Amino acid sequence: MSKPFRPDTICVQAGWKPKKGEPRVLPIYQSTTFKYDTTDEMGALFALEEEGYFYTRLQNPTNDAVAEKIAALEGGVAAMLTSSGQAANFYTIANLCQAGDHIVCSAKVYGGTFNLYSATIKKLGIACTFVDPDASEEEIEGAFRDNTKAVVGETIANPALTVLDITKFANLAHAHGVPLIVDNTFATPVNCRPFEFGADIVTHSTTKYMDGHAMAVGGCIVDSGNFDWEAQKDKFPGLTTPDETYHGVIYTKQFGKKAFITKATAQLMRDLGSIPSPMNSFLLNVGLETLPLRMEKHCSNARRVGEFLKAHPKVDFVNCAMLEGDPYYELAQKYMPNGTCGVLSFSLKGTKEDAVRFMDSLKLCAIVTHVADARTCVLHPASHTHRQMNEEQLREAGVTPGLIRLSVGIESPDDIIEDLAQALEQV
Ligand SMILES: *Cc1c(COP(=O)(O)O)cnc(C)c1O
Repeated sequence: MSKPFRPDTICVQAGWKPKKGEPRVLPIYQSTTFKYDTTDEMGALFALEEEGYFYTRLQNPTNDAVAEKIAALEGGVAAMLTSSGQAANFYTIANLCQAGDHIVCSAKVYGGTFNLYSATIKKLGIACTFVDPDASEEEIEGAFRDNTKAVVGETIANPALTVLDITKFANLAHAHGVPLIVDNTFATPVNCRPFEFGADIVTHSTTKYMDGHAMAVGGCIVDSGNFDWEAQKDKFPGLTTPDETYHGVIYTKQFGKKAFITKATAQLMRDLGSIPSPMNSFLLNVGLETLPLRMEKHCSNARRVGEFLKAHPKVDFVNCAMLEGDPYYELAQKYMPNGTCGVLSFSLKGTKEDAVRFMDSLKLCAIVTHVADARTCVLHPASHTHRQMNEEQLREAGVTPGLIRLSVGIESPDDIIEDLAQALEQV
């Protein structure tokens, strides 16, 4: 096999490979369905005997080209796009678990993931134990049960900005015969490829840096192809025993290293249907072409902004794993030596009202819920995402009254810093 290209090249070149006379740029196959000449030709597709397009809920050429690019970027064997990051994280669990099963998840995860795993999958009979990601292996060990089917964490947690010790979590998962799933949204495969550290499956909210321009909500699941489902045959009957809804196909037998993604597509997408529109996948692909350039700029800007804030007398503390002295600096050096991401958080000294005055004085940095796109934006957890909590609950959640989440964009760092400086003067 030839040596794989480097990420910058993959971002531009992987996925869509035009044949003679075909469009150079990935076309938007805005078609629900695909035509065949004979009954048998289409029959072979329904029997999963041949690969081909027949209905966009299952597969679409635009979506597949972009999935292939992301799989190549992560160093995986196959990928599936979903309509959102939430759908990606739900499908990953649904592809492994059924009622009566259990997962272990880092307590430092995205709020939507926390709700999904603590409340929604619980109603479907799948239990989740949340663990402190910084606890010792022995402590985390205690969370495993006989019916545990997966371990989950985020490379850089949104919004806690903690860095996951991927190797520690991979070792724990593998010692219990289950895969490690890593949500790699904030780091992106440009800064970290979790498969290189033992993760088995990676998920993304492509809504963030991959799209990078806040244009389209989307998600992706990538499989490394490394987990040996057959070796844990009894744990994963969905992959290792006949699927009666698909003519008794055994995914591991028929699809080998692509078993996980084929099952997710053929079974879950067929039945649950959270596909992205080809138009959104086209936009995602345009975003991916510049991902390495943007990540470099996001990181260098965040470093500059973080250093400015850290030195400012009105700032209490800054959370940014690229800054020396941050509790996650060493882990970030190990897993993301080139940089983490553009999102940081910091706390103003003073009251909630001071933070509100600061926020409302910003001119360039916009108040939006989104993070991780080209435009710098801010959010005040005590007023926004954590608004329903009282002072004591806020403290328990690690949210100080003055905490501000800042997603540093790709504008001039001098303009961003000048805006922050003038707003700090108003406090
Ligand atoms: C935003 C986000 C999600 C959810 O993704 P959507 O595309 O908004 O559904 C999941 N995980 C992480 C880490 C996120 O930042």
